[in-house]
Amino acid sequence: MGAVATPIFTASSYACPNPTNENIYQRYFNTPNQRVVAAKLAALEQGEDALVFGSGMAAITTVLFALLKPGDHAVFQEDLYGGTYHFVAAELTRFGIEVSFARNQADFAAQLRPNTKLIYIESPSNPLLRVVDLAAVAALAKPRGLLTVIDNTFASPINQTPLALGINIVVHSATKYLNGHSDLNAGAVIASREIIARIRPCAVNHGGMLDAHACYMLERGLKTLALRVERQNENAGKLAQWLQRHPAVTRVNYPGLSDHPDHAIAARQMRGFGGMLSFELRDAAQASAVLGRFKLATAALSLGGVETLVTIPAKTSHVKLAAAERAAVGISDALLRVSVGIEDADDIIADFEQSLAAR
Ligand SMILES: *Cc1c(COP(=O)(O)O)cnc(C)c1O
Repeated sequence: MGAVATPIFTASSYACPNPTNENIYQRYFNTPNQRVVAAKLAALEQGEDALVFGSGMAAITTVLFALLKPGDHAVFQEDLYGGTYHFVAAELTRFGIEVSFARNQADFAAQLRPNTKLIYIESPSNPLLRVVDLAAVAALAKPRGLLTVIDNTFASPINQTPLALGINIVVHSATKYLNGHSDLNAGAVIASREIIARIRPCAVNHGGMLDAHACYMLERGLKTLALRVERQNENAGKLAQWLQRHPAVTRVNYPGLSDHPDHAIAARQMRGFGGMLSFELRDAAQASAVLGRFKLATAALSLGGVETLVTIPAKTSHVKLAAAERAAVGISDALLRVSVGIEDADDIIADFEQSLAAR
């Protein structure tokens, strides 16, 4: 053997007894390709064990169903990924699980109830890139015996390893940075051996596993994760600074900028500030036209791939909110969100220059 790439084991059935002496089956999350990619993800996130899923939502919903039961209460960060928010608001509550939403750092403590079991965070958040102090949330949860979960999709384990800061469980949409090539949907959960053992039976019952071919693709993507993210950190930092000086731009949201409200926390808990940023145009009426003029960047949903993508959150991720609700959470019609790619930084900036300049 000695193959430098993991072979794809397509078998849906394995002889028993076998070297691991267990019933090996894709939906049991224990086939060779699933194990290899899970071990790499556990190492990247400084956890002990991991499970890989067919999507980020499969990972997130399985974790919440595994750890909560009717009568329990969970606190969620208010500015959640839209899919997670809709799952929490529409489905968890249908099963008799109480939920509430924390607006800011202090609100996590204020929202606790006697039956609270879990705190769920997203940092940096979408699309305003607000940062939560992870060690502070862990310190709030631990003495009360609460579990803490973070969606670490935006940061990636290259920039942030929440388990090392005391958070219990990391979830990912591996569709984004982990795979990194916009050609796969996958999800992951990383935690201690003990917590993964609690989640695994629910994962088997729900059946949202990742198949062998997709595991291979995800493993291939992971090989360049550090290189891609380092370049994206660098490009996003340059673009953020350039945008900040542009007359058509009133505000840039990037945790790496010294005037970002959470810059100090980000600098303390992140190794890099990430490839995501958002900015506000002086004239909201120009947003669609600016988006339409990009030549190198693509106006498209999703994020974390090698190519630069731009969206208008008011028309995409937050379109289901009423205008007043959007205004309340600070997402104006003039806001553009950028997933900065690995292209040449000067080329990216030149594209933004022509797109913002034309009238
Ligand atoms: C995309 C995304 C998800 C959902 O992942 P899917 O792979 O689309 O199911 C969850 N959280 C965040 C932060 C995301 O960006």
